[in-house]
Amino acid sequence: MSKIKVNDEIVVISGKNRGKQGKVIQKIPKEDRLVVGGVNITKRHIRPTRKGQQSGIVEREAPIHSSNVMLVCPRCGKKTRIGMTISKQSLTEEKKLRFCKKCGETID
Ligand SMILES: [Zn+2]
Repeated sequence: MSKIKVNDEIVVISGKNRGKQGKVIQKIPKEDRLVVGGVNITKRHIRPTRKGQQSGIVEREAPIHSSNVMLVCPRCGKKTRIGMTISKQSLTEEKKLRFCKKCGETID
């Protein structure tokens, strides 16, 4: 499962959108896919289903597989793999935190 979250800045590392950068706007965990703002735009023809509804072409982002993207670290600005670390909040409470494998800073 991808460690990328909504609102993360990512860069596409493979496929036809390689090199494009954008913000994750939706996660589809079932398919391990992400919808990224401005990336993988497809044009869809909309047909009116009701009277008075407008038809036309709508541009929208199609989901891309999360294995094709890498996180852009908000701390160092480099594309990076995400590491996980456990932070003790108290004696009984632990929290999983993500960290950048390039600069070591926590991301969450
Ligand atoms: Zn970093």
